[in-house]
Amino acid sequence: MEIKITKTTAPKTKPPVDSLGFGKHFTDHMFVMDYTAGKGWHDPQIVPYGPIPMDPSCAVLHYGQAVFEGLKAYKGENGQVLLFRPYNNMNRINESNDRLCIPKLDVDFAVEAIKTLVELEKDWIPGGKGTALYIRPFIFATDPFLGVHPASTYKFIIILSPVGAYYKEGLNPVKIYVEDEYVRAVRGGMGFSKTAGNYAASLKAQEEAEKKGYTQVLWLDGVERKYIEEVGAMNIFFKIDGKVVTPALNGSILAGITRNSCLEILRSWGVPAEEKKISVEEIYEAYQNGKLEEVFGTGTAAVISPVGELCWEGKKMVINNGEIGALSQKLYDTITGIQSGKIEDTFGYTVTL
Ligand SMILES: *Cc1c(COP(=O)(O)O)cnc(C)c1O
Repeated sequence: MEIKITKTTAPKTKPPVDSLGFGKHFTDHMFVMDYTAGKGWHDPQIVPYGPIPMDPSCAVLHYGQAVFEGLKAYKGENGQVLLFRPYNNMNRINESNDRLCIPKLDVDFAVEAIKTLVELEKDWIPGGKGTALYIRPFIFATDPFLGVHPASTYKFIIILSPVGAYYKEGLNPVKIYVEDEYVRAVRGGMGFSKTAGNYAASLKAQEEAEKKGYTQVLWLDGVERKYIEEVGAMNIFFKIDGKVVTPALNGSILAGITRNSCLEILRSWGVPAEEKKISVEEIYEAYQNGKLEEVFGTGTAAVISPVGELCWEGKKMVINNGEIGALSQKLYDTITGIQSGKIEDTFGYTVTL
């Protein structure tokens, strides 16, 4: 399929790099492709960024049939443009599609669409430490029909947002509240899918944690509220007595690409890194014995997010004096180094435009 390109006649002024933030500004163009039952995915286009007309009965607005992805394009040392593991994202959107009865994309074509759009918008990729062009592909049901049924029409859209360093003052450890009342997902549900509904389910707990002075929520399993799951938009890692552990993929947590990269990189360094079922009691016990050395979250937005404090049932665990640990810092430097082409990519993670 050929991507038809219609360029904007009114290019925007690019925002200054120090005011970028995250997800606030969008580039001049977007990619749009439609799906119609019987016809498949058709009419891929790049058009000026702007509002999309929608019927008030549009299926996604009522029943939430929607999936999304998040990845970044980086400007390399020599001006080259690098994508980080885009095939993994497009394979994952198909896994989410499968769970939500959305027709799958051709992975190679979807990556081609990302590349074509990023190439057209490459002047929007900010230069500077910690900055990137955030890529948000998403699909939603468009049927104008109030009936609970997989839709027969969909839109696949890709928008781009120049983003600044996630943490202005470097890698500031975050305070996390271990949620023991609300749950995000249960096995058999949609926890492993990147879908809008999982985020809707998380807002209440997030809001209450913020009122208590915490920035994020650490979810426990939905059945026993005993085993650690993830942080909503990040997977979680613990360094205990020299060994690294992260919750095993169990169907209710998202298989993060940053998570997978961390496991592969740690193992390449000879650091023991295990995926297993981890109870929150186990973490507290390690803390009490002085063996909880580092805790960090992993995700595309922040890459590595050190955790300085965990609060569980009123008990506070201050980790590494509230400072980033050496291993967390080394992982951050390595992954961001590979992403920007500063460090040789021996893992084959990056795709150059
Ligand atoms: C996107 C996301 C992550 C992080 O995944 P990455 O591929 O590393 O960006 C973790 N948890 C949830 C629920 C997510 O939606």
